[in-house]
Amino acid sequence: MNECIFCKISSGSLPADKVYDDSQVLAFLDIAPVNPGHTLLIPRQHYGDLLETPAPIIISLVEVLPKIARAIVAAVEADGFNIGINNGAAAGQVVNHVHMHIIPRFIDDGYRAWGHRQYSAGEAIETARRVRTHLEMS
Ligand code: 5GP
Ligand code: ZN
Repeated sequence: MNECIFCKISSGSLPADKVYDDSQVLAFLDIAPVNPGHTLLIPRQHYGDLLETPAPIIISLVEVLPKIARAIVAAVEADGFNIGINNGAAAGQVVNHVHMHIIPRFIDDGYRAWGHRQYSAGEAIETARRVRTHLEMS
């Protein structure tokens, strides 16, 4: 995966403002932050998206996430933070190396939450049933 920019950051061949690294994971500032301190947390190894990532690797990301988030909040004096994974192009994934966004938030930063829609009659029951069916299949 030598064309992958996050692999290049992981190997050190592309520079990044790193905030954390260990043998399994790396965290660095997003080049175009939603807010200052916006950080990307990645596995050092290449996996395209969350569903391709083995559970132990996901665990290694989640294990360090709270301490990195706490440090970001302290560093930029944030009021909170969002954790996000854009999984797949439809969800906004642009870089195909799995990554978690840690986005510091401020009470007055002006960003709005996602919109919400209503289920039509019976749609929620049917949707939940379909998800359960697929879980039973897996
Ligand atoms: P995605 O939309 O794939 O979830 O997010 C990819 C993120 O990577 C974007 O927020 C984008 O600003 C960031 N990004 C893209 N290229 C680079 C880069 O070369 N260096 C850094 N530090 N961030 C990058
Ligand atoms: Zn990669």
